[in-house]
Amino acid sequence: MRYAILSDVHGNLEALSVVLAKCNEVGVDAYISLGDIVGYNANPKECLDIMRSLNLICAIKGNHDEYAGSNDNVMEGFNPHARAAVIWTKSQLPPEDRAWLASLPMRQTIKGTMITAVHATLDSPDSWGYIFDVHHAADNFAYQFTPLCFIGHSHVPVAFCKKPITQYSERMIMELEDWEHKIIPEAAFRREESFDINLNAGHKYLLNVGSVGQPRNKDPRASFAIYDSDLKIVTRYCIPYDIAAAQAKIYAAGLPERLATRLDRGI
Ligand code: ZN
Repeated sequence: MRYAILSDVHGNLEALSVVLAKCNEVGVDAYISLGDIVGYNANPKECLDIMRSLNLICAIKGNHDEYAGSNDNVMEGFNPHARAAVIWTKSQLPPEDRAWLASLPMRQTIKGTMITAVHATLDSPDSWGYIFDVHHAADNFAYQFTPLCFIGHSHVPVAFCKKPITQYSERMIMELEDWEHKIIPEAAFRREESFDINLNAGHKYLLNVGSVGQPRNKDPRASFAIYDSDLKIVTRYCIPYDIAAAQAKIYAAGLPERLATRLDRGI
């Protein structure tokens, strides 16, 4: 089976379209959504319709989904741009879509797979914390009972591996730096379209797949992952898309300018 794992689409139809084209090209059997389908960009309704039409075996709630599906207008923790985008997004969604977003689970272990999915963190999914380093990862691993856990939320692809406990083990949790391209010069990683992680038996993996619709790792390309359960490989893809078209829609919708300008810098 091949599973595509998509996170933080954030209403970016141009990015979602190229991602799904790549999924079709590779051949994907099922889709997993890690949340934040809406917010920030100008096509929340279109992205929701497309996502819901996929063979979606798991759809997790993100913080933007939560606010877009609720009547909370305070939106604690949100900056003014994010808040403005949620208020606009609500005006674009019929009650049925907002109810669907509100109904999504915060985390899920997907039956018949080795996968747990959560938007933010497993230890406290509704606190919307961020996992950036091995210490955060250690907290998450304590609550991770499957070999694989996919997360989103930070829009920064990071990956951690936890080795089994043995009498010889030194460092149990390691960051897998090539997942984020940290060890590759920027000029080179922009040409590479995909990166593989080979899964070792007995190890646990915590993988942030990056963001489809608003990447923040200085690589503006749409980021997502495909897990091949037969080959035991997870591949992260980085796909260029028509950023100018997405930006034009943000301006036309009257959304904050900053939401457009950040897209081509990937910040
Ligand atoms: Zn997000």
